[in-house]
Amino acid sequence: MIEMKNVCFNYENGTCALRDIDLKVADGEFVFIVGQSGAGKSSLLKLITRENVATRGDVVINGYNLGKMSKKEIPSFRRTIGMVFQDFRLIPSMSVFDNVAFVLRVTNYSNKYIKTRVPYVLDLVNLSKSLNKFPNELSGGEQQRVAIARALASDPPILVADEPTGNIDPELSMQIVDLLVEINKYCGTTIVVVTHEHELVRSFGGRVIGIEGGKIAFDENVVGKISSGEENKKVVGGANER
Ligand code: ADP
Repeated sequence: MIEMKNVCFNYENGTCALRDIDLKVADGEFVFIVGQSGAGKSSLLKLITRENVATRGDVVINGYNLGKMSKKEIPSFRRTIGMVFQDFRLIPSMSVFDNVAFVLRVTNYSNKYIKTRVPYVLDLVNLSKSLNKFPNELSGGEQQRVAIARALASDPPILVADEPTGNIDPELSMQIVDLLVEINKYCGTTIVVVTHEHELVRSFGGRVIGIEGGKIAFDENVVGKISSGEENKKVVGGANER
């Protein structure tokens, strides 16, 4: 669950990146966040992941009140969020298996768990046959699928993806979002995708939150692959009353 109440965020140099943000994303939702460059999308994601802390207001994610959380709690909080980046951020010297296993090893999961969990998440992203390959042997789309598997390794309730299709050919971009939609349906993971690719958003539809000048400019449901008009009516209003 993502909840923001009356949130503002200013950078140290005084830039007001976000203001008056009231937002609720329920467990199991799939949400696009759109907006032009400089609108505040990354700043919003960084509040969700607690890379930054709100200057004002409350940010509550997966039951953690991020403004009141102690430093000690940050690692366990972070494990409740999977992250996917535009530039994949895989370790080139590690195999696909080890890239995914790495995040579990550093957080002290048992070898027994790793041996079953890593093949399972790589199967979810259709890369069962590439466990022993290295990132440079994979296409951009495949590398992003490894990054998605890595983000899912510790079974987080929320996955946030920052421009996940930014470095991928347009036709493969659709497949990446298709995969995220499948994961949302199959695993129940709440998924937040930041993108500026309007065509992608129009095609998939569902809940679309627009950021302009640091504010939520719209929060609406678009008819597309994800949702029919009927489903839309339920989500609007209930999810974010403004
Ligand atoms: P987007 O992700 O939509 O492109 P950002 O959240 O990166 O937008 O930026 C929102 C605003 O905050 C912009 O005016 C940007 O210049 C400013 N900004 C972003 N990062 C910093 C920073 N580290 N220090 C100061 N200002 C920043």
